[in-house]
Amino acid sequence: MKKVTVKELKQTVIDGGYCSGCGVCTVSNKSPFKMELTKHGNYEPVLKNSESESAPIVCPFASHQIDEDDIAEDLYSKGKENQVNKNSEFGYFRDIYAGHVKEGEYRNNGSSGGGVSWVCNELLRTNKVDYVVHVKEAIQSEEGKFYEYSISTNFSEVERGAKSRYYPITMEKVLSFIKDNEGKYVVVGIPCFLKGLNLLKIQDPIFFERIKYTIAIVCGHLKTTHYQESIINQFGHNTKEVKSFDFRHKLEGRSAADYGTLIKLKSNSKKIKRNKKIFGTNWGLNLFKLKACDFCDDVIGETADISFGDAWLPKYLDDFKGTNVIVVRSEELSSLIKKGQDDGKLHLEIITEAELYQSQAGGFRHRREGLSHRLHLTDEKREWRPTKRVSAAKLDNERRAKIYENRMKLREISFYSENFDNIKLLKKELLSNIKINDKLNGINSIRKMISRFKVYFNI
Ligand SMILES: Cc1cc2nc3c(=O)[nH]c(=O)nc-3n(C[C@H](O)[C@H](O)[C@H](O)COP(=O)(O)OP(=O)(O)OC[C@H]3O[C@@H](n4cnc5c(N)ncnc54)[C@H](O)[C@@H]3O)c2cc1C
Ligand code: SF4
Ligand code: SF4
Repeated sequence: MKKVTVKELKQTVIDGGYCSGCGVCTVSNKSPFKMELTKHGNYEPVLKNSESESAPIVCPFASHQIDEDDIAEDLYSKGKENQVNKNSEFGYFRDIYAGHVKEGEYRNNGSSGGGVSWVCNELLRTNKVDYVVHVKEAIQSEEGKFYEYSISTNFSEVERGAKSRYYPITMEKVLSFIKDNEGKYVVVGIPCFLKGLNLLKIQDPIFFERIKYTIAIVCGHLKTTHYQESIINQFGHNTKEVKSFDFRHKLEGRSAADYGTLIKLKSNSKKIKRNKKIFGTNWGLNLFKLKACDFCDDVIGETADISFGDAWLPKYLDDFKGTNVIVVRSEELSSLIKKGQDDGKLHLEIITEAELYQSQAGGFRHRREGLSHRLHLTDEKREWRPTKRVSAAKLDNERRAKIYENRMKLREISFYSENFDNIKLLKKELLSNIKINDKLNGINSIRKMISRFKVYFNI
């Protein structure tokens, strides 16, 4: 693997704004980096010292000539004939399902079908791992931080990690833990974090030995802390008043996609709002999104042993409890999942490659034709950008090109905005670009306009 130096990484990925905050570069040999939360609410590495400027370093966005296809080919392409397939959009796979956990409270407590927490606990129960590395609520003493990567060693700790956190996290501390503590680990992560982790495994035998399994969660994009703060502001509170926060509160009787946000206050009261009534929760607007995510081409988590997402397909939306899409790549986890079904613990339905694609159609569009256009725009400016599996090309469809360009502006304005905790000012700042977005997306029917108007003016 061609490794970049500390100096090169700083000048390209970090200064260019392409860092997703994974923290892998902090544990590379002789790394001079440590992770810090910036004033914009995202994690970035900063130099502890500049002594090791020429030290080689691992990063999922650096130009090291190993991409997701190379990693996945090495890990998953070998197997019995007809058991491993490759899809041009989401890479290697053995099995594709939609389903949910029938056993216990996994589904009720999870974001969608509860599959991620179930697999983590099965690996613990069968002594395949000693440690589960995933994202949980942060220790309250750390002022202002709601979630962080941490280590679980038993079922109830794993349960406490359930639910999706649309919030910046970094693996810096847990990677140090893995380095210092012998044992068998499973790591849950978003696709770019797991790509970084796999690169680290190639570079460092300790990580290769200890990380036995990886579980990806499908990723639309990652938000800054300011996303959560803008929501808390719409509840009429500030972060200091909030004890806990649920980005994915299931609403009985509604569609699985029509979920809410629940906040519990330190005063012990709780409040719930439907996301459709909260400004900025429409993911298509790209608000408070990392720039790295506009330069990402792995939707499903192609380098992981197994991936879990939401089954955003009409036939599963009616069930408010939520349904996973599941893509299995490793032979061992394929058996574990099938056994779960045979034992009556999992409900699984085989779905087609086309259905899997359809369940994430927006994500694929944004990271195929959208990415290609964004790469073209960056190349036109002769700026450095990460090497991608998608090639740069100007989009011929003028309307779609404008949609992507306007989304970039919405991302940029919200990322740098100082009005994240003042929703009135934030809306004012974004108004003209939201109008452009609505016009380009044909949101001009009276009904749609009234509904947007209501969210916009908090009615
Ligand atoms: C930032 C983000 C974007 C996502 N975008 C999409 C999308 O576009 N399409 C889609 O289908 N699904 C997306 N998901 C995944 C989806 O929300 C569910 O996490 C997934 O379906 C698994 O649900 P579950 O019920 O099986 O998981 P659960 O049993 O609820 O377990 C969730 C697991 O994910 C871990 N986790 C939570 N937040 C993070 C985080 N930020 N980084 C790493 N690990 C985390 C938890 O610690 C837990 O182990 C996204 C998730 C995140 C965090
Ligand atoms: S993406 Fe990860 S490895 Fe790359 S610079 Fe950021 S924190 Fe470091
Ligand atoms: S969209 Fe891609 S780059 Fe952004 S957090 Fe998700 S996996 Fe990482």
